[in-house]
Amino acid sequence: MTRYDGDGAEVEETDDWYEPEGVPVGGAAPDGTDPEGTDGGAGAERTFAALPPARGRGFAQTWWGRAWLTALEGTALDTQQLKAGRRLARAGAVGAVSVRPGRITAVVQDRDRTAHRADVLLQELSDEQWDRFLDMAVERAGHVAALLDREMPPHLVEDAELAGVELLPGLGDLEPECDCGAWDHCGHTAALCYQVARLLDHDPFVLLLVRGRGERALLDALQSHGGPSSTSGKRPRLEGVDAAEAFAAGGIRPALPGVPPLPAEPGVPPSLDTDEPPTAGVDPSALEFLAARTAVQAHRLLAEALREGHERHPPAPEPTVARDAVRLAAGEPPRAVTARLADGSGRGREGLAVAVRAWRQGGAAALTVLDEEWTVDAEALARAGAALASAWAESDEAERPVLRARANRWTLDGGRIQLRLGRDGRWWPYRKERGRWVPAGDAAQDPATALATADSEARTEPEADTAAGRPSGT
Ligand SMILES: [Zn+2]
Repeated sequence: MTRYDGDGAEVEETDDWYEPEGVPVGGAAPDGTDPEGTDGGAGAERTFAALPPARGRGFAQTWWGRAWLTALEGTALDTQQLKAGRRLARAGAVGAVSVRPGRITAVVQDRDRTAHRADVLLQELSDEQWDRFLDMAVERAGHVAALLDREMPPHLVEDAELAGVELLPGLGDLEPECDCGAWDHCGHTAALCYQVARLLDHDPFVLLLVRGRGERALLDALQSHGGPSSTSGKRPRLEGVDAAEAFAAGGIRPALPGVPPLPAEPGVPPSLDTDEPPTAGVDPSALEFLAARTAVQAHRLLAEALREGHERHPPAPEPTVARDAVRLAAGEPPRAVTARLADGSGRGREGLAVAVRAWRQGGAAALTVLDEEWTVDAEALARAGAALASAWAESDEAERPVLRARANRWTLDGGRIQLRLGRDGRWWPYRKERGRWVPAGDAAQDPATALATADSEARTEPEADTAAGRPSGT
């Protein structure tokens, strides 16, 4: 017998490598999925997850599994390739195995981890042959019962042969195709054949699928041939693809397509302006606006995602409704939509207008400075104090502004101008309009610059300018 020692060396090998022990997968199907499976109709495909290393066990315990291997071993010209195939299969080098009519596919990894796509082809049965097989199976109900117990009685195969149907491959019937370029069986296709022998042991329907019919299609056809109602009752079948099989197929499918390029502009949603009156409760213009803003947001997110180093930045947290309403309101919605956003966000009309000004000034960071008051920790406070001191280091005592500090806000004497320290260490200028603090310009690293910005805005803009109604662009 052969053991695989785990680091690539085969320890010993004799001819007797069929060990009469099951593959180490408990009582479950080798793919760990429900053997009742999801093979749908003709053209169905099943995928079996990669099997763990076999560690000295043989590949086929059943007579039909061995017959499958005989078809391989009896014709292979190069026994070294068979040996290499056994070694690879035992080492767990065969990836998920896809089985479909006429073809079995897997990616097989060499010892140096080079991956090869290996295929083994087997002739499908013709429709006429299937008809004869079904007629035979209807007469011999015991054969079908055995199949459903995952057994393949020798009589079944003999009866099929009498009907002119070869189920098991004969010598030379397993045709290899491998991207390593070999013209006969190579280690990869041989490894795949050995792996499939393990699968066949557990489920002879795998053989029937390669011959052209999945289990379900076969049982349905049996019924229409007047056979036993074998699909009723105890074996419910599920629609769709088993998640474990789909996942296992990941190694076989082609790679995902590349990332799309950034379109020059966000997409424009279709117009919802039709002759039909809208359903009650649906506001088409609001919906159009929402779709347009969503396209803009998607465009922005894609641009961000394509930026160099994007993967190093954690994703921004989901905005709250009150914050996301500001993003929407900054997109100049119809008046009715603005009113709904003002109500829905809890900010009210004026509050929303101020928030939109902050948003236009500096997006989410600026909105945080508007909405949140936070305690400055000792270190940040010391830094802020130093920045304030150095900003006016050259000034005369009389010119230095007198600032009253509370939390992260420093208010200039007189109460019309305020500096807010952002969490990013920048200073945000604010001024008072109609009793409400509003953002007054771009943030600055230097508090004196921010103060000058707030001061000039306070001088140039009349008080009653934009605090109410539609926000200006600032
Ligand atoms: Zn190959």
